[in-house]
Amino acid sequence: MKALKERILKDGRSLPGGILKVDSFINHQMDPYLMRQVAVEFIRRFASCNITKIVTIEASGIAPAVMVGLLMDVPVVFAKKKKPSTMGNMLSTTVFSFTKQKNYNVVVSKEYLTADDRVIFIDDFLANGNAAKGIVDLCQQAGAKLEGMGFIIEKSFQHGRRVLEELGYRVESLAVVDSLDNCQIKLKQE
Ligand code: 5GP
Repeated sequence: MKALKERILKDGRSLPGGILKVDSFINHQMDPYLMRQVAVEFIRRFASCNITKIVTIEASGIAPAVMVGLLMDVPVVFAKKKKPSTMGNMLSTTVFSFTKQKNYNVVVSKEYLTADDRVIFIDDFLANGNAAKGIVDLCQQAGAKLEGMGFIIEKSFQHGRRVLEELGYRVESLAVVDSLDNCQIKLKQE
């Protein structure tokens, strides 16, 4: 996606440890116009799937997921990192955080992810695929059909895509970062 790639090269910053900082337009300050373009592209790619719900994990996946849900006219569910006291029956799984390098639990109410759902998972980044594997687990517990996964940015020097494709899932990403070495952002040319 041309506009996204140009923005990453213009405003993204490469941090030590293979982390791309996109705080000025995705992760902190957000650019809603770019987010809408991102959502339109996801919808184009998943057009053939008959989706009933968008699923994401708080917090950074929520903005793109809501934009996709709005344009597709389907509800959006985000897995929560803290179990609310008001939540009754729930599904729970453990996710290893790449940025924080530790495990955390996420929960979804059984009411909002069910065997009737055909879902796509939307997130900001694909690194090693751990967040996505958490959603795979939640969908399996719910009996929901996971039709595919859409990531705004994929880092190809990590192995998330391979892991998820080996599990049999369709993976779509809108910009692929091949390297962040020497503080330089190298994008895959398509
Ligand atoms: P994974 O679970 O695929 O290993 O990592 C994806 C999650 O970690 C995303 O939800 C994202 O929040 C975070 N993440 C992974 N790599 C990066 C990165 O380079 N920059 C930022 N800002 N977040 C990242």
